[in-house]
Amino acid sequence: MCAASNLSIAELVMDNEKSWKSESDIRDGLLLIWDAMKSCVQQGLDRDGILPGGLGIKRRAKRLHQSLLQLDQPTVISSTLAPMEWANVYALAVNEENAAGGRVVTAPTNGAAGIIPAVLHYFVKYSPNADDDDIVRFFLTASAIGILCKTNASISGAEVGCQGEVGSASAMAAAGLAEVLGGTPSQVENAAEIALEHCLGLTCDPVAGLVQVPCIERNAIAAVKAINAAQMALRGSGEHFISLDSASRSLRDIGSDMHSKYKETSKGGLAVNYIEC
Ligand code: SF4
Repeated sequence: MCAASNLSIAELVMDNEKSWKSESDIRDGLLLIWDAMKSCVQQGLDRDGILPGGLGIKRRAKRLHQSLLQLDQPTVISSTLAPMEWANVYALAVNEENAAGGRVVTAPTNGAAGIIPAVLHYFVKYSPNADDDDIVRFFLTASAIGILCKTNASISGAEVGCQGEVGSASAMAAAGLAEVLGGTPSQVENAAEIALEHCLGLTCDPVAGLVQVPCIERNAIAAVKAINAAQMALRGSGEHFISLDSASRSLRDIGSDMHSKYKETSKGGLAVNYIEC
């Protein structure tokens, strides 16, 4: 459709949305979502302590944030991967808020809510000229990928395992980032496909039924994966072997073959093996 209309994915989605809302309402709505994501990240960076639920998991976003703020000072341990660490801290902040019952933006689920804000915060931090247009284009593009994942497969951990939640979010974030970094529709689709392909098979086995372990850390890992996927796609021409449609069909098939104990039941994987006996 992009090729036929000569529109980017973001423009195509905007045109579609305009069939029921004005462009300014759509933009305002998306920027409201961005504001909610920013305040969620900020809350997560400000709060410390133990997460509720009984596992005794300590919040770590605040501590990591404080140490990243010191990075350029001579006495402090340096980082060879500072951009990646920033993506990590943004994702941890959101998912710790989610684990504590704070306000998050479902994107596309609450368990995977840290990935899109982390990648977008990373983009804004490292792109001094980023503006509201970029934010709007990022979300419009990410939403197209989310719709495809949901329509052609699933975004539900209970239905297809974590590949549906974190995999879809990573694909959405990768596509959004590729778009705002100037990718063509083929490169954007490639970015989403790379991120999704390398989340295939991911099971949902949260310890004690809490969206904490492995979920919080997993969002950080998937945010970095999304950034890498976007970067890899942008280095190519957009031509690639596996299409996003093939990856999402695989997501659906793997999800339907996956044993039910790996679908949000906490009866398999990490949820049972964390106990040493
Ligand atoms: S492991 Fe399950 S609960 Fe945790 S983020 Fe993945 S799908 Fe959601």
